[in-house]
Amino acid sequence: MNENLYEMLRLRFPGNPDAPCLILPDGDRVSYDRLDRESARYAGLLVSSGVKPGDRVAVQVRKSPQALCLYLGCLRAGAVYLPMNDAYQRHEIEFILGDATPRVLVCRPQIRALADELAAKSAVARVIELDDNGGGALASEAAAQPDTFSTVVRTGDDLAAILYTSGTTGRSKGAMLSHRNLFSNADVLHRYWGFRPGDVLLHMLPIFHVHGLFVATHCTLMNGTPMFFEPRFDVGRAIELLPKTTVFMGVPTYYVRLLSEPGFTRKLCAGMRLFVSGSAPLLMETFNAFKTRTGHTIVERYGMTEGNMFSSNPYDGERRGGTVGFPLPGVSIRIVDDENRPVQGGGIGQILVKGENVFCGYWRMPEKTREEFTDDGFFKTGDMGKRDDDGYISIVGRLKDVIITGGLNVYPKEIEEIIDAMPGVFESAVVGVPHPDFGEAVVALVVRLADEAGGAMTEAGIIAALKGVLANFKVPKRVHFVAALPRNSMGKVQKMVLREQYA
Ligand code: AMP
Repeated sequence: MNENLYEMLRLRFPGNPDAPCLILPDGDRVSYDRLDRESARYAGLLVSSGVKPGDRVAVQVRKSPQALCLYLGCLRAGAVYLPMNDAYQRHEIEFILGDATPRVLVCRPQIRALADELAAKSAVARVIELDDNGGGALASEAAAQPDTFSTVVRTGDDLAAILYTSGTTGRSKGAMLSHRNLFSNADVLHRYWGFRPGDVLLHMLPIFHVHGLFVATHCTLMNGTPMFFEPRFDVGRAIELLPKTTVFMGVPTYYVRLLSEPGFTRKLCAGMRLFVSGSAPLLMETFNAFKTRTGHTIVERYGMTEGNMFSSNPYDGERRGGTVGFPLPGVSIRIVDDENRPVQGGGIGQILVKGENVFCGYWRMPEKTREEFTDDGFFKTGDMGKRDDDGYISIVGRLKDVIITGGLNVYPKEIEEIIDAMPGVFESAVVGVPHPDFGEAVVALVVRLADEAGGAMTEAGIIAALKGVLANFKVPKRVHFVAALPRNSMGKVQKMVLREQYA
């Protein structure tokens, strides 16, 4: 049996070859049959460029249907897809090319000179351009290839993709994901979230990251239904398209932006079946406001590059705000203390995961890989969490974000939640900065609402309010008001940036 992910997805494509897969911004439709034929051309082009099974194909382009066909073509050729964030500059690209030594680099024309220079240093055999509209040499050469391709046979253990972690702690690492890792997660999510005939997904996420490339895309392809394939998140476009769709997946900032639009109404969401949020914590305030405005309860889920999705709030059953729900079927989650012993009674500990979706290790880092797995095969996520009496898991922060002040552990989330609930506060971030006496000192950055309560907030007021409810060592030494929190493209607050800025 061919366990190539593309083949596993193709088996579920609809019987009707004209059934639409992509609906493009100009209204054009790409049928499942055309997707199959186009991806065949990209596979053919890669093979004719010397790509052999197992070779890496590095890609740094904007989202387009051609970029999606390139991903599928890569799978079909048995190559390993390596997408890069299009915000990456010389330093990041150079590191990744040197580490992954891809055979081919697909880039935007804007960086062609840089791409050639860096490719030469890392012995990349070929650089090909794909422009932001899906045109350029890659597309025109693909057009000259046959529209059939016999998908290369892969076992479930063969690599399908390498995604580099964002490298917020130390160097960026290449997470190796196999065909089985990706298929098993797609299969589980497709069932868990109740995908069904008639579904239409609104796809506004980038496709260099797990969320948009794997979760949203694979669920759609497995379901054999269409998705509106938009180049980026745009709140006006979302409002226009939501009435034509049934499923939306986004990062928390998308939901905040939707709620800030008066035109975003309950009526607009009347035909929606499912809203999913993840990649960063969804504020309780957003979760509640969304329910009030639309009548829909967002399903928050939790996952990471190293294994796609680990847990989700239930589709049927109570979706509990501030939690990431239960382990997905086939995924085991353990919460452990510093000595690797399971934490009892709802205590906080590091989240460990195991399952077919969990990655195969870090590319060319066997030592690091060994360190990050327990003897019985659980991956140490580096996320700190807890499990309530009903089994719902919540994330309280990253291990590296835990603040140690005077030898005591402080979990930023605990303080952030209290500050966020104060009138006049939009959101907050709590970080540790170097301190001569305590090792680290707790500092809070607060974004105020533009209302009366926001205007009345003071540093002393926040500190006094916290003193009433928290142990003194957890109370921030300083509170700074900021216009916005720095976030990366997946909506994650960049605590490293804050730590440096307020050191
Ligand atoms: P990435 O590998 O870029 O997808 O980032 C994964 C990290 O994002 C996880 O390790 C978590 O720290 C964080 N994350 C993902 N989903 C959630 C969520 N629903 N709530 C809180 N943090 C999340």
